[in-house]
Amino acid sequence: MRDQLEALQELAKIDRGFRQFDAELEELRGRLEELRADVGRIRELLDREKGQLDEVERMRGQAVVEADELGERITRSTGRANVARNTRERDAATREVEVLRKEREERSQRAGDLEKGVGDVRSSIARHEDDFKKLADALEQEEKHVATRTTEIEAQRAEIERARAEVTKKIRADVLRKYEGVRSRRGTAVADAVDGVCRGCHVSLPPQFYAKLNAASDVMQCPSCLRILLPRPAGAGAVTP
Ligand SMILES: [Zn+2]
Repeated sequence: MRDQLEALQELAKIDRGFRQFDAELEELRGRLEELRADVGRIRELLDREKGQLDEVERMRGQAVVEADELGERITRSTGRANVARNTRERDAATREVEVLRKEREERSQRAGDLEKGVGDVRSSIARHEDDFKKLADALEQEEKHVATRTTEIEAQRAEIERARAEVTKKIRADVLRKYEGVRSRRGTAVADAVDGVCRGCHVSLPPQFYAKLNAASDVMQCPSCLRILLPRPAGAGAVTP
């Protein structure tokens, strides 16, 4: 019976290695997902800012056109003031010129403010394009790393798969069935039994059961979690997780 338990312990170690591979791959893929999401977010931000830039530039262009048109009207009104036939006409034209000048001043001011706005949005875009480039580079690096690591893990996994096949040959068919059944439900299929306690589920084992287990006369499963129990002397370090 000892040889069965030893082979089961070896098998559990191999399967623990598989789980570690799976966990590593999952973590790597999770990081990739996060990076892709970051890249996507910054791309959206850039798109929004570019739309904003178009809008501010359009408004600035409009303010410039309006200022120019007001300039032409000022010229026309000034001409009218110069050819006025009487004081009333001249005063009216002069007042009009004053009003138009104020309006033109306001439009020029607005064009200047918008010009500054264009500069602000442009520098924000430049900053975010820089961030985007850095993130896209990081993503590319990470993609390469994950691809390499995945290939490595697949190669190692194939090798371990062969070792696993060798180990399972040493295990009785009915025991192996039990092992696989528990593993598929619980992730791990063996547990140390120390000081009368199953280390898999931390349940106390009945004294008679524990005594029989220590005699190692049969492969025994924890009555609670059904993991196959590996009897360990008290004080010995746990071998299985
Ligand atoms: Zn248990």
